[in-house]
Amino acid sequence: MDKFEEAMLSMFGMTPAEWEEAARKFAAKCTCPSCPTYNRCAKKEQELLFCATGKSFMCISEKKDCICPVCPITSELGLKHRFFCTKGSEKAQRYEHALWGTKII
Ligand code: SF4
Ligand code: SF4
Repeated sequence: MDKFEEAMLSMFGMTPAEWEEAARKFAAKCTCPSCPTYNRCAKKEQELLFCATGKSFMCISEKKDCICPVCPITSELGLKHRFFCTKGSEKAQRYEHALWGTKII
């Protein structure tokens, strides 16, 4: 189990209030607003923490650069992917997208 999987596992046991508090703390560290890809629409809609929440909702479609690799959340949660705002959350990029096109049997 890697760092990200351990972090996800520890969050499963959180109450909604604990989860809200954790999400607030993570969002405060999110460096997306300093990224060239982050745009006015995302700022206006206060979109943040795409690594957890998934793709930008109707704001970001054009990729420029991604500064996720230097964000403190990347090392804290052991993220392996980037461009979460256009490609989906870490969980989606790791697992859900990987399952697309595969068969159960
Ligand atoms: S890794 Fe990227 S999306 Fe996640 S909090 Fe940091 S800057 Fe935001
Ligand atoms: S997820 Fe990456 S590319 Fe998107 S705004 Fe955040 S730092 Fe920039």
